[in-house]
Amino acid sequence: MAVRAILTWPDPRLSTPCAPVGTGADLDALIADMFDTMYAAPGRGLAAPQIGVMQRVFVMDATWKDGAGTPRALINPRITAQSDETASADEGCLSIPGVSVAVTRPAQITVAWSAPDGTALSAQFDGFEAACIQHEIDHLDGIVTFDRLAPADRTRAEAAYAGAQA
Ligand code: ZN
Repeated sequence: MAVRAILTWPDPRLSTPCAPVGTGADLDALIADMFDTMYAAPGRGLAAPQIGVMQRVFVMDATWKDGAGTPRALINPRITAQSDETASADEGCLSIPGVSVAVTRPAQITVAWSAPDGTALSAQFDGFEAACIQHEIDHLDGIVTFDRLAPADRTRAEAAYAGAQA
């Protein structure tokens, strides 16, 4: 297990869609490293492309900062239903350190994915978890929070990011 380096925007890998994970792939070492890297950052979600692994897998733990953890690793996740109702929340990103931006997304989603042992799972999410999952699936599609902003908001956010890195 190891903490890996997290890529920061605008690394081109963060704008590149990831490939599906094949059946039978052994992801145990990768997922262990991703949890180590996420907790060390510290963050509540991390997608494989953020450490330069261009595969459709992410890890999340929405609650560990507040007490008991709920670690999840989602392989080949896909949103199978979403609410018309939306929610807006400030989203940080480990690949865009120092800048949070308000992103509007469907408030509830249903997600299907494979667990690391290959089990097919599906569940409904709302609140922070729904936003986090959509944020991480965006990473698998080569999309970062800046890409979700209106042009004027993006210009402001990129200027803030440039300032935060200076
Ligand atoms: Zn992110």
